[in-house]
Amino acid sequence: MTAQIIDGKAIAATMRQTFKARVDLLAQRGERPGLVVILVGADPASQVYVRNKVNGCLAIGMHSEKLEYPADVAPQVVLKKIAELNSDASVHGILVQLPLPPQFNEQEILEAIAPEKDVDGFHAENVGALLQGKPRFIPCTPYGVIKMLEASGVDLVGMDAVVIGRSNIVGKPMAALLINAGATVTVCHSKTKNLAEHVARADLVVAAVGRAKFVTPEMLKPGAVVIDVGINRLPDGTLCGDVDFAACAAVAGQITPVPGGVGPMTITMLLANTIEAAERKAGLR
Ligand code: NDP
Repeated sequence: MTAQIIDGKAIAATMRQTFKARVDLLAQRGERPGLVVILVGADPASQVYVRNKVNGCLAIGMHSEKLEYPADVAPQVVLKKIAELNSDASVHGILVQLPLPPQFNEQEILEAIAPEKDVDGFHAENVGALLQGKPRFIPCTPYGVIKMLEASGVDLVGMDAVVIGRSNIVGKPMAALLINAGATVTVCHSKTKNLAEHVARADLVVAAVGRAKFVTPEMLKPGAVVIDVGINRLPDGTLCGDVDFAACAAVAGQITPVPGGVGPMTITMLLANTIEAAERKAGLR
């Protein structure tokens, strides 16, 4: 079997085409969607992510700006800025790029963002709403995975799904979304016994581990849908997912590549969340 490739880049491009008209309508009503991204420190990967987020907004006519702070900034300075942004009517989304330097309590920062502007979906109120099956903002990466599955015609109802990874950013919200969609979900992590046995039963595998080529073809049920969230840099500088793509593509039914899979969807869903925030404020949803 040769797996069908789930092309995240193409799915993301199709979605972004529809965003422009929504942004234009909002701008006509005086609610041009605005996203502010806060970056603390000079981590090179974070700088690239933040640049891509800001440029993604600007490309579809949204307003976006980056606020940069040195790595040794006092948390109170950032908290004060977040409070200002919370009451700034031109700002619909506020995102603090993670990770933060050690003097920060990340949860304290995330909880300081007004829940109706928390476009990353990490505020406890938004996490609770997702778990209750009534999401307001869905964390961008798992939201993107669900949209990719929808676009690929995967019917999640009754599927046996295994999520590898239990982070607050990917694994846990991914599991909640799959449960909400009607799948039977197993979450594996570093303490899981017999991980291979769980994966072998799965119709759908979502790998969010952070280890290159962690998922190998002999682990998979033939025909399984394989979603690779991982982004790992190999010693030669190339990017690689958590799935041994070339080998697994011979066993899986559908599979996402890295790069060009989940990655392009993550920023697309950030744009979607910011537009949704502005639509809510404008009374359009
Ligand atoms: P974390 O490091 O926060 O979580 C990794 C998870 O994998 C943990 O739950 C950990 O278990 C589990 N794990 C680690 N080693 C093993 C193992 N040997 N067996 C089973 N489980 C294991 O990472 P994130 O969730 O933030 O990200 C995961 C990957 O996805 C990374 O490569 C990251 O770069 C990528 N990523 C990609 C995005 C995109 O846009 N495509 C966005 C966000 C992340 P435990 O909890 O027990 O420690």
